[in-house]
Parts: sequence; C-alpha cells; structure tokens
Amino acid sequence: MLMLMMNTQKKVLRLSSSLPRLRRNNDRKTATLSTPDGKKPLVANTFGLPSGKSFSCPNATSVCEKVCYAGKLEKIFKGTRELLLANWDAVQNKSVNELQQMIQFMIDDFKWECDKYNAAKYFRIHWDGDFFSEDYTKAWRRVIKHNKDVQFWVYTRVPSAVEMLTGIDNLGLYFSADDDNKHEAKRLRQEYGVKLAWLADTFEDASSQVRALTGKPGAKCPEQTRQIPLINIDGGACYTCGLCITNKTDIRFSISKK
Ligand code: SF4
Repeated sequence: MLMLMMNTQKKVLRLSSSLPRLRRNNDRKTATLSTPDGKKPLVANTFGLPSGKSFSCPNATSVCEKVCYAGKLEKIFKGTRELLLANWDAVQNKSVNELQQMIQFMIDDFKWECDKYNAAKYFRIHWDGDFFSEDYTKAWRRVIKHNKDVQFWVYTRVPSAVEMLTGIDNLGLYFSADDDNKHEAKRLRQEYGVKLAWLADTFEDASSQVRALTGKPGAKCPEQTRQIPLINIDGGACYTCGLCITNKTDIRFSISKK
C-alpha cells in the first residue's frame, strides 16, 4: 500500500513537471522477462540515443562506425529512429539537475513495471548511443548511485565517462575498445582498472589484443557464439549470461562471429 502511494506521488510529480519524458526501449538481448512464447521482452529495460559522431557518440572509432549494429537498426526501423530522436531532443540544453530528474522519472517507471511483473531490476544504459557530455554523464552518475536496488550496465567509448563512472557498486562498466582506441584502452585499464569490451574481426584477434593488455584472453560473448539464444522463455541472452551485468570479466566481440 505504502509502495503504491509512493509511486502515485512520483507519477503526480512527474505529471506536474514541464520536463520532457525519456522513453525506454525493448531489447530482446537484454530482457529480464519474456512473453510466454519466449519471443519478446515484457519489460523495457534499456535506453538509447541516436548514435554516430553527429549525435551522441563523440568518440566513435572507424571500426565501430563501420559495424554499428544499433545504427543499422535506426535505419531499418522508423519508429525506433523517431524514439531515439525524441530522446535526443529531450536531453538538449538541460542542466545536470534537469537531466537527473528526467532520467530518474524514467527509472521510476522502470522500477514500477519490474515490481508489477516481478522482474529483476537490471537496466542497460545505451543500447544505442553514448555519453555525449559531462553534464549528461554526471546526471547518470547521480541516478545510478541513488538507485541501489537497480543493477545497471553500460559500454562506453568516452574516456571521461570511464573516469566519472568508475567505482560505483551497482554499475557494470566497460570501455568499448578496438584497434583504433587501444592506447586509450591501455591507459584506462592501468589507471582505473576498467573492464574491456573488445571488438575485432575474429575472437582470436580480440583475444590477442586483450591478452596483450591484461594477461588474460577475456570471455567470448556466448550469444555471439550461439551458446545461448538471443531470447527464450527465461529472458534475453544478457540476463541468462550475466557476465557484463556483473562486470565479471573482459569480453570479446567478433565482427565475423568466428
Ligand atoms: S557477454 Fe553475456 S552479458 Fe555480455 S553482451 Fe554477451 S550475452 Fe550479454
């Protein structure tokens, strides 16, 4: 009863706010709960912004620009593109406090839905896009720290975001690395101990690069190797696997999936 009153209060607060609403996405890979046929997510547990250097990815490398999976989805699905652009418009010219409030409202809605369906509170930041400004990163930092009942995870190519988001217990943080930004990856690993999500043509190539920096090869993403399905009745691949969510180890991704 108390929980219901608090949620209602928060919804009233949001309705009385003039700030625009940020919208979450469904992503089959990150879903914590699926529909009974095991084909679609039941709770939207991710947030995105349009990708690319002209939008939210200031540190996009030539490798990621070439293969960006999320960027391809933006082109194929008009509705997805519109949703991302609406989120992008919403976060422009806002103060840190305003951004924090907008993100918090979105996370409140997410938590309300998780309680309704009894779903795990795991939230992937940026299925598409990245930390485009320091104020925006600061706002996320505050929200993550304020919502200890949610386990967040994120991959970023922005070094300042790694510096600002390191050391938060309920965040699985990865620096997305490839051949283009390997020197930055080395520095961030040495200075902050950040975990690496390495993208290369093959798992073997990624293994050599990760091993050179860390002494260990890192784990292959089991969804890419088809060891686990993208989604089934138990939820999405990331929920089943959990490696990135818990920040357990460095991860290898392969463009060729070989
Ligand atoms: S390694 Fe696991 S958690 Fe990470 S992206 Fe692949 S399936 Fe998801």
